Amino acid sequence: MRRFLNVLLVTIFYCLVLFLKCFESLPVTNQVVLDHHSLVRLKQWGYISSDDSEVKSNTNPIQQLRLTHKLVDALKTFQRFAYLEPTGRLDNATREKMAAPRCGMPDVIPAEIKNRIKKRFAAQGSKWQNRVVTWQLENTNNDGLTVAQVREYMTRSLKKWSDAANIDFREIPPTPAGPQAPASQIRVQFGQGNHGDQFPFDGPSGTLAHAFFPLSNVGLSGDIHFDDAERYTILDPPRSSGLIKFYWVAVHELGHSLGLSHSELFGAIMYPFYTHFPGLEFNLTQDDILGIQSIYGEKSGAFGPSAPPSPFTTLGFVLVGSLIHWLLML
Ligand SMILES: [Zn+2]
Ligand SMILES: [Zn+2]
Repeated sequence: MRRFLNVLLVTIFYCLVLFLKCFESLPVTNQVVLDHHSLVRLKQWGYISSDDSEVKSNTNPIQQLRLTHKLVDALKTFQRFAYLEPTGRLDNATREKMAAPRCGMPDVIPAEIKNRIKKRFAAQGSKWQNRVVTWQLENTNNDGLTVAQVREYMTRSLKKWSDAANIDFREIPPTPAGPQAPASQIRVQFGQGNHGDQFPFDGPSGTLAHAFFPLSNVGLSGDIHFDDAERYTILDPPRSSGLIKFYWVAVHELGHSLGLSHSELFGAIMYPFYTHFPGLEFNLTQDDILGIQSIYGEKSGAFGPSAPPSPFTTLGFVLVGSLIHWLLML
């Protein structure tokens, strides 16, 4: 009996050694699942945390395996958001989607909150505390869009949101940014690469623009930055031209400025990927309208939501807001 136990213990020991050797033979996790570029993108869009985006050389095999599963899950979540087959593999379709023109803001909110809200839109959690929000164009661009054209299309974009919900806007005429400039709440800028915040642009295509949520209502709150490396247009060229329709991007970014996060509904204005809509005009979808009304209420009536939010919705907004704020701080 004693001899049998000894043999059993030795066998278990060798099995354990073999088991660990198998994990040691796994290549470094992020080289297997994702390349550097994909990791950076998934981190930017909120699918993985900073800790998960870097595999440390001394990470043990068990931790590496756990990390591999996390990265595969993150990739699958992105694929679902992009309406691709959730294979968890970095295939060509996924690479193409990752390089496609889109907004630079994060996509991900916790699944349990999304399931509770049962809507496709997502409110970030902060809002403007005053009914009339001021905005201002602060600079020109390299795209050949005149100041008058940018102001006109910003005004048309703002009207889409103010027609749908209990919020209004007032323009402060363009003046150069600086201490003498009158303060506006939503400041609209064009910039390239590092442009004064923690979120540098990436050159042509990829990230088109980003915006800041209302948050504290001061400083960068509500500001919109367009990547001036893009070629924006107000015309209706074919998609193959590579030109980006300024109008759609402006309406989308304003949604963030007002407190909306990304919708997972393909076709919604707040869906994060660029939509090359046909023609020169388009409308908010019902999803976008429900989203903005959940924050500011319907157009008529008192300022604020038309009905008190339910406790779980309020909790959801707070948690989503905290998450997005945390992601922006990464
Ligand atoms: Zn966006
Ligand atoms: Zn910026």
